[in-house]
Amino acid sequence: MASSLYIHLPFCKTKCPYCDFASFIDKKQERYKIYFDALENEIEFRCRSFDQKQKLKTIFFGGGTPSIHDPSELEPLFKTLSKYFDFDDATEITLEANPGTVDRNKLLGFKDLGINRLSLGVQTFSEELIGYLARGHSVQEACEIIELVKEIGFKSWSLDLIYGLPHQNLDQWQKTIAEALSFNPPHISSYALSIEPTTPFGQIYKNSMHQDLPHEESVIQMYIYLNKTLESNSLNRYEISNWSLQGHEASHNLCYWHAEEYYAFGLSAHGYVNKKRYANSRDFQAYIEKFSERAIETINKSNEFQLFDDEVIEIVDDDKYLEERIFLNLRLKEGLELNSKIEEKINSHKLENFINQCFIEKTNNRLILTNDALMISNKIIFELIK
Ligand code: SF4
Repeated sequence: MASSLYIHLPFCKTKCPYCDFASFIDKKQERYKIYFDALENEIEFRCRSFDQKQKLKTIFFGGGTPSIHDPSELEPLFKTLSKYFDFDDATEITLEANPGTVDRNKLLGFKDLGINRLSLGVQTFSEELIGYLARGHSVQEACEIIELVKEIGFKSWSLDLIYGLPHQNLDQWQKTIAEALSFNPPHISSYALSIEPTTPFGQIYKNSMHQDLPHEESVIQMYIYLNKTLESNSLNRYEISNWSLQGHEASHNLCYWHAEEYYAFGLSAHGYVNKKRYANSRDFQAYIEKFSERAIETINKSNEFQLFDDEVIEIVDDDKYLEERIFLNLRLKEGLELNSKIEEKINSHKLENFINQCFIEKTNNRLILTNDALMISNKIIFELIK
């Protein structure tokens, strides 16, 4: 069974124009209760056949903007989880929190619930760029939330930053990194903006050569500068897009990159349990109806972790598992440990070429991507798998 658990909370203060997640604005909060009820029903339904509580290493509340909720709204969820799962102070419990949605009391309430890690969606410290992103918060609010988080003393916290933004140049990015480092964050996650066709940005920037977008070479320079600067400030790049002080790595995300199984609950959530990958609907009404109490009463209880047949999107057989391990482990700085089965899945000719081109190092029976390979990692890894 799995030892990590993801919960999706889809409500947001604003809908960012680049966002492709299942997330909504509900200013009047009319759908909050109905959603939490369905979520609790889903947990009850899926877990009610457990013969014992499952020990958890990590819980992650993602979204959406989970910090939009009051701690009192999350409390019943914790109670439901505690019926089926064992978790305590040693469990990494992360909540995604956005500036402009929390105050001191809320943060204290989250901490009282047992949340010990916050992932802060700051994205940029540029006054100009924050406007283009329409995040619904100011740079000032971003600085305030960081100061509060530090003062209250969560066990760990992370800053999320985006680069490759419309109108962004290297100089602005360098200033954002300097501002981020001035807070001494124990962890930084940073991804290049990905423009998804179904979003407002996807409509505006249909052409990837749009004049407002930084050129591909500039985006690469932004990543190189980021990596070099964070590493020279003791933030170790333990994954392609994640840096941390020692001991502050995100254990929850490490579960994904180690290709381990995890439970997932909520709208659009994808889980991986008992070698099955499953997916919940992205459609709010469909999700609510599915996990209304009446609907779940009719399901049989034959398996340990209950899944409807049509939710299973993939059976992860041994072959698929090895592919996933290669793909995910190579994202990590520690790299991929070789064994005979892994070696059978790797194209040895391609590997030799990548080693000769200094894109991959082979040390202590491990394959590790070099710095030169980081910006083209997907291409390299796909070519490597037979
Ligand atoms: S806050 Fe996050 S989840 Fe919500 S709309 Fe913006 S990017 Fe999407």
